[in-house]
Amino acid sequence: MTFSDFSFSPALLKGVAAQGFETPTPVQAQAIPPQLEGRDVLALAKTGTGKTAAFGLPLIEQVAGRPGRRGGPRALVLAPTRELAVQIEDDLKRFGAGMSLRTVLILGGVGRGGQIRALSQGVDVVVATPGRLMDLMGEGRVRLDHVELFVLDEADRMLDMGFIRDIRKIAAAIPAGRRTALFSATMPTEIEGLAHDLLREPVRVEVAPSGETVTAIEQRVKHVSAGHKRAALAELLSDPAFERVIVFARTKRGADRVAKNLATDGFRAEAIHGDKAQNARQRALDAFRRGTARVLVATDIAARGIDVPEVTHVVNFDLPDEPESYTHRIGRTGRNGASGAAITLCDETERDKLRAIEKLIRRAFLPCGALGDQPPAPAQNQNRGAGPKPGRNRRRRRPGARAAA
Ligand code: ADP
Repeated sequence: MTFSDFSFSPALLKGVAAQGFETPTPVQAQAIPPQLEGRDVLALAKTGTGKTAAFGLPLIEQVAGRPGRRGGPRALVLAPTRELAVQIEDDLKRFGAGMSLRTVLILGGVGRGGQIRALSQGVDVVVATPGRLMDLMGEGRVRLDHVELFVLDEADRMLDMGFIRDIRKIAAAIPAGRRTALFSATMPTEIEGLAHDLLREPVRVEVAPSGETVTAIEQRVKHVSAGHKRAALAELLSDPAFERVIVFARTKRGADRVAKNLATDGFRAEAIHGDKAQNARQRALDAFRRGTARVLVATDIAARGIDVPEVTHVVNFDLPDEPESYTHRIGRTGRNGASGAAITLCDETERDKLRAIEKLIRRAFLPCGALGDQPPAPAQNQNRGAGPKPGRNRRRRRPGARAAA
């Protein structure tokens, strides 16, 4: 199957080809045709499966090139985080490069003047985070009564972040005759309920059954006292297999501290969290994507919705408060079928959290240094690179380790 099998206009096909896309991903193959037929879609798909094009291409096909209007957008895309919204708009612009498509980003953390001006100049698509959109709606700065197409991306994360009531209010401002597409990595009952209320006879699409992504990720734990976590992290990073690493910290201050210590220890690291200005977060992300920074230190909230390809390792410097956050964290690696590894540094006070995660993922963590590796080297040997080699295990692709997943 190729993209030309869809009934896309030549200009859109050109935009797709310019991105180097040839074969649709499974979620694209399944979700695009019903949307082109005007059906609602409920898609269960994880980050990295090609969701953006799965809703973006039918969206562009429907709204681009039609006479402009000033009353408000024809399409609205909601995303949980600023980073994700920025990426979605960016992708839409790229796919629609050869077409007239006016997009406006509406997000918190940046000035509102530009957003309000852009809206007043006429817009086809608004890509927004719920909070700022609600603000502007409340002030009468944006009207949703011309919206024909409503997309919710990463609905489960919007739920986690407390946006469900906002989403319902936003949906209520959109005409009932709209087409709606809802994408979510998981389907908790609240999302089922939301889908039931917002979608009409949706076509259900499900790709990458949950096991698939997770089995490709090797998950290990290293028991270490709180005071030795810094050295343990440095030791892990002394292994060059840790090429692109996201380190999770529980708090914003913790993230800053870890990033600072990493820099002192000679590793190129950037931190992102909610206290950083939008452009500082974007700069940090860009540095990580380009590879100028090898390590990105993030809090759970800040990491949601960011898409960085080829993350080789996720390291949990602290255990998350909610066991569910763990699966979000490790979903940052092992994408698109690539193998990945997640290492959790667990101190004495975190054992209960570890057990809660084991219960949730229904498997026990392997210790670092198992499967024939050397036992963890003492911290003072960190420069020898003689520590555990989870990365090597990852490459070895032990069938036993996979089957256990
Ligand atoms: P998601 O929105 O599910 O997180 P993206 O849409 O960002 O995923 O896609 C993940 C990556 O895969 C991106 O780098 C994107 O450019 C790429 N991609 C998406 N669809 C295709 C395709 N059909 N062919 C090749 N690459 C693709």
